[in-house]
Amino acid sequence: MIQAHVSNELFQRAQNSIPGGVNSPVRAFRAVGGNPRFMVSAKGPYLFDEDGNQFLDLINSWGPMILGHAAEVVQEAVQKAIPDSLSFGAPTRKEIEIAELIVSMVPSIEKVRMVNSGTEATMSAIRVARGYTGRDKIIKFEGCYHGHGDSFLISAGSGAITLGVPDSPGVTKGTANDTLTAPYNNLDAVKMLVEANKGQVAAIILEPVAGNMGLVTPQLSFLQGLRELCDKEGIVLIFDEVMTGFRLAPGGAQEVYGVTPDMSTLGKIIGGGMPVGAYGGKKELMDYVAPAGPVYQAGTLSGNPIAMSAGMAMLTYLKDHPETYTQLEQISAKMVAGMQQNLQQLGLNYTINRIGSMFSIFFTQEKVVDFDTAKTSDTALFGRYFNSMLQRGIYLAPSQYEALFVSTAVTEDLVAQYVQANLEALQEAH
Ligand code: PLP
Repeated sequence: MIQAHVSNELFQRAQNSIPGGVNSPVRAFRAVGGNPRFMVSAKGPYLFDEDGNQFLDLINSWGPMILGHAAEVVQEAVQKAIPDSLSFGAPTRKEIEIAELIVSMVPSIEKVRMVNSGTEATMSAIRVARGYTGRDKIIKFEGCYHGHGDSFLISAGSGAITLGVPDSPGVTKGTANDTLTAPYNNLDAVKMLVEANKGQVAAIILEPVAGNMGLVTPQLSFLQGLRELCDKEGIVLIFDEVMTGFRLAPGGAQEVYGVTPDMSTLGKIIGGGMPVGAYGGKKELMDYVAPAGPVYQAGTLSGNPIAMSAGMAMLTYLKDHPETYTQLEQISAKMVAGMQQNLQQLGLNYTINRIGSMFSIFFTQEKVVDFDTAKTSDTALFGRYFNSMLQRGIYLAPSQYEALFVSTAVTEDLVAQYVQANLEALQEAH
């Protein structure tokens, strides 16, 4: 039995000074029951908590740690940058270098602006789309999460649905009215929305592979159809690749599916674990951003030298080591094959969705292709499964509505350990 005395005490204490005891809602373990574990360090595939427990980490800080924790290449770059200054608030050579690297890696990006989070990236991208088109409305998809900007907290996935607030209080009716929603993978529904709001839609934003309602992959025809529709109607197509960028391929999901949006948003891996986001796209759109153009967007710490050094080291490594993606594919495929075998052995017929190093198990027999089908999953069963895995030293995302992220630190031995824990946890949870 894994002990949690210290974490339990800290969680009690945290609630006196931090809302809900955490600085980001899903971390509180509300949806799965029990208390969160308080971490002290991490190395390679492992997290170490305040009670001295070691966990095999399959969240990896919600995506950024694709090379595992404390990857030397990133840590060294950060240490090297620290003596020069923690922040200049003035331009640096590093910002040009990372911008050039991103432009060389991501097909849709001709120019890019660095920000400090994925939320900032998506908020800024839709402002550019609105400024450029002179239109107000946007279309997003049910179950997609684009950070906590007001415009996106409508039928939102991730922590919002985990806590039962996909439509958050505090978002004005005016803002909510400007966000239209459609079911994921449903091109006809989008066409109808565009037709009903002719000439009013500035942008269609989506996760090209959705990771915030659990993992849901797109049909290629859906992505291609959105591209055609946007071209026809003068709508800015935005791929939110905060999760998928640099994870599915050096050029993200747009490289994998061969569909190029007008703008892309990035986060997570781009900062190597530091708080970084970015948005970019066609020159004519990005030249609408101040001071080149009239759309205002700024940031005291944007382009921070330590964050840029971490991101630069991470992206350079991924660009120079394309075999990383083959390795991640092979390891993740083995993990999922093992899970499929376990399900078969136990006579269970649940759905597992996977692409590259992202996957989810849904406790439903339905094929999961959108938010409605994702919500047929038995979340109480997921909670029991999660806690059984935790007791076996495996740290999963504490919600059905999240994807798992595999890192290159997961070895064959760890796959075997994971698959065995999965078998036992499935048995125990039923
Ligand atoms: N977009 C997507 C697809 C995300 O998954 C997330 C966060 O998980 C965000 C945007 C928001 O990023 P951040 O949490 O860095 O603000």
